[in-house]
Amino acid sequence: MDKNFQEEFTQIIKFKPPLYKQRHQFVKDLVEKYKPKKVADLGCADCSLLRMLKFCSCIEVLAGLDICANVMKEKMHTLSPLPVDYLQPSERSLTITLHHGSVAHKDPCMLGFDLVTCIELIEHLEEPELKKFPEVVFGFMAPSIVVISTPNSEFNPLLPGVILYRHPDHKFEWNQAQFQSWALATARCYDYSVEFTGVGHPPTGMEKAGFCTQIGVFIRKYPQTGESLQSEKPTEVIYETVFKAVYPSLKDEKYLQNAVISEVIFTAQIIKHRLMSKHEEYGNDPERKSKFQPSVDCFSDYLGKLVVEKNMEPFVSGNEVYIPLATIFSFPKVNRLCGTFEKLCKLIAGKVTLSSDGSAVMVNIECED
Ligand code: SAH
Repeated sequence: MDKNFQEEFTQIIKFKPPLYKQRHQFVKDLVEKYKPKKVADLGCADCSLLRMLKFCSCIEVLAGLDICANVMKEKMHTLSPLPVDYLQPSERSLTITLHHGSVAHKDPCMLGFDLVTCIELIEHLEEPELKKFPEVVFGFMAPSIVVISTPNSEFNPLLPGVILYRHPDHKFEWNQAQFQSWALATARCYDYSVEFTGVGHPPTGMEKAGFCTQIGVFIRKYPQTGESLQSEKPTEVIYETVFKAVYPSLKDEKYLQNAVISEVIFTAQIIKHRLMSKHEEYGNDPERKSKFQPSVDCFSDYLGKLVVEKNMEPFVSGNEVYIPLATIFSFPKVNRLCGTFEKLCKLIAGKVTLSSDGSAVMVNIECED
């Protein structure tokens, strides 16, 4: 490499966005492409990748593993659900777990994952650990996809201040040929295919240096191992669980019930308000009152159609407004939450005031709630 050219570049190379963000974005794009449900991040450090992945709506199980418990513990609280997660539980379930242990050991908690990410991990492994790593990840965990990133040593001369390795804890840094031959041999041994790419483009004229971070994406060639084979695997627990968060989800009956009750009461109140405002508008004119249909704006248009088509008309009797449950069930959000009319009845039983025959929600005219 021309030394002057090289020096010129070492002054100016600065990745935008920063390289670690590009690596994490690469994983996020992969998640969006393959939609894995269960993702494990090995060597998760301060959990920054997990924090990003928890927003991917396809993921239901997220796990992190690191040999250094302290680095995980620093920010693990940021993986806990927020108040808003309880106020508006998500439709998907999400469990996040952090384990303390080494990728050189097998633990049953690492079975069943669809995607395993090893971002800037392997270069931190001592030789004996690196030897065991393929058997643990590709042989034991055997997910459908593995992504491994590691520094490309051919890029180092372009980085300012790098003498031997980019980080004092690195045990080695491979050039492109070294990484690719290790990855190809590993893929062949465990029946995976592998494709190479990277993040951090080299400057124009320096393309031979390759990406600053080299990445291998491994895809398992054989179909899902199935429960039978998984159960043959050792079950000895070695890792220590240091964090577990179960996010509130509508898949959990107690959160679903709360959501349905709120939605039923909200819908009933809106219908009541429409009804009462029409009542006042028509006043006491008996002719106009007889033509009364609660259908003015778009919400009421919808309600009006239901009333006309299905005879599900809300009515006032004494101090109470009666809103047929069938009408409430027809509203898209209630319908989507409950799925069936029977489920709606079951979820609100004893929680919402109903007419004596159970067919309508009763709302007091004066009650402003
Ligand atoms: N993946 C992170 C940072 C990686 S730094 C990111 O994308 O930002 C490498 C991490 O691997 C460190 O946190 C280190 O503690 C962890 N590590 C090193 N050896 C390990 C081993 N044998 N098993 C599991 N984690 C290990």
